[in-house]
Amino acid sequence: MKEYQKNDLVTVTIEDVGSEGEGIGKVDGFTLFVKDAVPGDTVTAKIMKSKKTYAYARLEKVETPSPFRVTSSCKFYRQCGGCQLQALSYEKQLEFKHQKIRNNLIRIGGFAPEFVDAKMDAIVGMDEPLHYRNKAQYPVGTDRDGNVITGFYAGRTHSIIANTDCLLGAPENQKILEIILEYMRENKVTAYDETTGKGLVRHILIRKGFTSGELMVCIVINRNPSDVMTKAGERSKKKPQKGAFATEMHEKEILPAQKKLVETLARIPGMKSISVNFNSENTNVILGREVQTIWGEPTIDDVIHVRDMKSEGYPFTGDALTFKISPLSFYQVNPVQTEKLYSLALEYAGLTGKETVWDLYCGIGTISLFLARKAKQVYGVEIVEQAILDARENALRNGISNAKFFVGKAEEVLPAYYEGKLETGVVNDMLHPDVIVVDPPRKGCDEACLSTMLKMQPPRIVYVSCDSATLARDLKVLCDGGYEIQKIRGVDQFAQTVHCEVVVSMSRVGSKL
Ligand code: SAH
Repeated sequence: MKEYQKNDLVTVTIEDVGSEGEGIGKVDGFTLFVKDAVPGDTVTAKIMKSKKTYAYARLEKVETPSPFRVTSSCKFYRQCGGCQLQALSYEKQLEFKHQKIRNNLIRIGGFAPEFVDAKMDAIVGMDEPLHYRNKAQYPVGTDRDGNVITGFYAGRTHSIIANTDCLLGAPENQKILEIILEYMRENKVTAYDETTGKGLVRHILIRKGFTSGELMVCIVINRNPSDVMTKAGERSKKKPQKGAFATEMHEKEILPAQKKLVETLARIPGMKSISVNFNSENTNVILGREVQTIWGEPTIDDVIHVRDMKSEGYPFTGDALTFKISPLSFYQVNPVQTEKLYSLALEYAGLTGKETVWDLYCGIGTISLFLARKAKQVYGVEIVEQAILDARENALRNGISNAKFFVGKAEEVLPAYYEGKLETGVVNDMLHPDVIVVDPPRKGCDEACLSTMLKMQPPRIVYVSCDSATLARDLKVLCDGGYEIQKIRGVDQFAQTVHCEVVVSMSRVGSKL
């Protein structure tokens, strides 16, 4: 086999897509990973990093374009790290995601290919795979000439590509960002520099309730709350620094320009909430823990409709729930697909009104409340306290009284109840629920959580996953512990990117469904 050196130019036909969206092709048995190349392309690629049997290469020229290649409508597509699949037709993107889930189940989960194929339904795609995100977090920085810019990080780096018009986001984002940038430029408000830790504005977070039309802007600044207010919420003796985003406490001291900024933003149709978030830590975490509303309400509302996933076009069933969203709460980013994802989880839960259900990793109680409408009792568990406070309020708001929420780690709360350590209020149906729903972050479920689920022996488990690799690992544990997979279905929550959600329904072997 020929070995390749850095900077060698190679012509290769792309046959497959890797898990990070890169094109994969072979030359004389040597495997090339070519970012931005799509299956069916014949390309010239430049070797960047070479190993014995494979190399990473950069796309130099598309010699013969693939029939699945589309012209990306985003001019930053190749530089930006956000969308890895924009050059691939949407139909092929869905096929790639279906295959990615399938491969992980086979390779990591150890399930037979025929078994996986028999259980997997067609992935649920989007009708309009652009402008779907209800949340955007734009980093703020400076370009080489010192101008304040905002945009997105270039792939695998922290250098910002100036772009206020991301095609995945809400159309209002651009106007909001331009207004804030103009304010910063005119008033010499500095952007945060993560290498020196200096500068003020770190990020701009924008959220939109797609159904309600309500908008939220949260400006993340490199300050401590104590710089602008005391703990008791009284006026601080320190004056806010020039250019700092003052809080309500300092209304009189708000710079006239800053007042103008808030007024200009407030005039955008739909604007409901403008806030400042404090983050002075040297960290990649975007938001600090404290938020101060400087105009309007602290939260926005959104509505999620329940859909019939068994009928074509997934029609609205007539049932809907309203949710309160704060800058800090987790809320699914693709509202159109979230309705389908939750409706599918609800369908897989197979509720008749008599069941007791645990909803683990429940966030602000979205899935829990969907379930509560159809169950006898739902118990939600979530690690973030504010999310649980929101979940309780969301239950009240929707007139739901059969959902109870607990703050804590799923792997601690569930065993604590099961082992009887938390005796107060423990009822038998909590120990032996009819259904357990889990929706963990990418790292999947903790072992202690899975083993308690197995001990509780619910007839049904519904697993909602945002990472099919950890899903496959966890499904293996559950299947080894006496469960079998009934159905698997991908839901594309993240069009143009390599990510995909999956919902799996499982039943306990031998239990009557
Ligand atoms: N089901 C919700 C949230 C899913 S995201 C929804 O659809 O909106 C995963 C959630 O798990 C996040 O809210 C995160 O805060 C929470 N989480 C992360 N680790 C956890 C743990 N160990 N125990 C409980 N919740 C956890």
